[in-house]
Amino acid sequence: MQGVRRGAWTLADLKDGIVLQARSGHHRVRSDDETVACSVRGRLKQERLYTDLVATGDRVLWRPTRPGKGVIEEVLPRETKLSRLRPGPGQMPFEHVIVANPDQAVFILSVREPEPHMRLLDRLLVLAENNDLPAIICANKVDLLDDPLEAHELFGVYEEIGYPVLLTSSKTGQGIDELGEMLRDRISVLSGPSGVGKTSLLNAVQPDLGLAVREVSESTGKGRHTTVSTRLWPLDEGGYVADTPGLREAGLYNIEPEELAWHFVEMRPYLSDCHFSSCTHTHEPGCAVKAAVEAGKISEERYDSYWRLLEGE
Ligand code: GDP
Ligand code: ZN
Repeated sequence: MQGVRRGAWTLADLKDGIVLQARSGHHRVRSDDETVACSVRGRLKQERLYTDLVATGDRVLWRPTRPGKGVIEEVLPRETKLSRLRPGPGQMPFEHVIVANPDQAVFILSVREPEPHMRLLDRLLVLAENNDLPAIICANKVDLLDDPLEAHELFGVYEEIGYPVLLTSSKTGQGIDELGEMLRDRISVLSGPSGVGKTSLLNAVQPDLGLAVREVSESTGKGRHTTVSTRLWPLDEGGYVADTPGLREAGLYNIEPEELAWHFVEMRPYLSDCHFSSCTHTHEPGCAVKAAVEAGKISEERYDSYWRLLEGE
């Protein structure tokens, strides 16, 4: 590629990088050994009218200009993304990319103090499914249970339908190695209500990581949830965690009511057996989903979440 000249620089001048934080004007880009502030080549701006030009998590080719500064010349195609659609120019929806190239979502709840908020978990799982993002559930504070089997009573249904459930305690250290293992070399989107122990868990995985994440999400998170840009936090062992403060409040307004059941993975096998193809699985006769709930094959709790989400709760 050497020798292909574009103005005063050659392709050999380009470096690989990953966007740690997309910000208007100067994106924070991490390369092998440095983190630099990059602007974006003007030409790129005309190419992406319906999606974010540069998003946190994007892989880019950038060109150093001055010490600590550079220009993003190319944004590589996104392999996966966690995104939301918003009204855009003309009739076309605009895609807001919360994180580009995530490998998985990790949803953290606690078994006690506070009690697990299963409706929120179900909503987050729908968001993950809608983005084709594998989800892992982390049930923290298991040290507060008298009987370890209680964790299974709470989260067993999620294991049965195929989600990995990791039992952790940042107090006793249970599950911390496994959590670190799951995060290694991947980009993980983290979410969960406050107070469940996210900060303590991240600190247990890597000293001070949780504190750093918390400081930033608290200073930027207040009252501006939709505009807060996500950050990637590098892990010493490889990989990144993305803290998405606004995700738990995110609505499901991208998802059409008739798509919703598809995002409840255990409902999928029944969807083609409903009598009406437009079945909403609520009141219709001949509904295979309702029959499966009555036969005990689909959890009533999950079905209840489905109803609530369908009604826009
Ligand atoms: P965050 O709001 O999700 O970041 O939660 P924090 O990490 O700040 O933890 C909230 C509270 O739960 C703190 O008082 C922690 O000491 C406590 N906590 C965190 N993890 C555990 C755990 O595994 N077991 C118990 N018993 N308490 C925990
Ligand atoms: Zn149905």
